[in-house]
Amino acid sequence: MSAPTAETLAKSLCALTQDPQRGAVFCDIDGTLTPIVGRPEESRVREEVSLLLSRLGRRYACVACVSGRSANEARRLVGVGGIGYIGSHGAELLEAGASQPQLLDAFVSWEGRVAGFVEQQLQNDRNAKLLRLRLEDKGPIKAFHWRDVPDEAAAETWLQNVAQEAQAEGFEIHWGRKVLEIRPPVPVDKGQAVSTMVRSTDVRSALYGGDDVTDLDAFDALDALIESGDLDVGVRVGVRSAEGPRAIVERADVVVEGVPGFEDVLAALLP
Ligand SMILES: [Mg+2]
Repeated sequence: MSAPTAETLAKSLCALTQDPQRGAVFCDIDGTLTPIVGRPEESRVREEVSLLLSRLGRRYACVACVSGRSANEARRLVGVGGIGYIGSHGAELLEAGASQPQLLDAFVSWEGRVAGFVEQQLQNDRNAKLLRLRLEDKGPIKAFHWRDVPDEAAAETWLQNVAQEAQAEGFEIHWGRKVLEIRPPVPVDKGQAVSTMVRSTDVRSALYGGDDVTDLDAFDALDALIESGDLDVGVRVGVRSAEGPRAIVERADVVVEGVPGFEDVLAALLP
């Protein structure tokens, strides 16, 4: 699928643009609103993109960024207060204008256990330090990043062992783009979070844009919401990248090239 022309894009989005008060716009952050960089803490969302989201927030019934990052970190990065943030893959919800995110109850009791496991892994193997992995604290979820470490292959091998042990101890694991996450065994994903938000409003059309494996759950959620009659129209926007999974492109209604392509989608949602 090639990138849409302005005309075909407008056509794909018409259910939303014609009735924004009954429309929802959801999007991933890393790889969708901001290019993937070596260190996630160095990500920046362009001011133009923040401005578009802010305008969308005023026009549409529901606008939310859905991220693997913590909800607070997601809001800091995007820099728009008037939209919602779903953090930690759906474990946290920071509503538009709210001061603190709500954590899914099921996650609270697991928070310390994941942290304890990760700490133990790093202490048990003194060589772990040499791998120079970066640990990201996402509240109940902890993530190891190995992009741009001195020896990426060695880091990945070490993390494969960590992943096995994590599973043996009952944790969930998730592999992303050069990242391994250790999660509580609580069923949660971006799709569940999107479903919950759609069902809590009276929107009839929804768009979801993403670039990675975890975004496929949100694509599934749009399908399920249509099936159950909770939505009339779902628009799945796949952001193509060199590292991204094929499925994100294959399963999308609209395919765009990288972050600039998704920026065009956001702009096309406005008059
Ligand atoms: Mg992403």
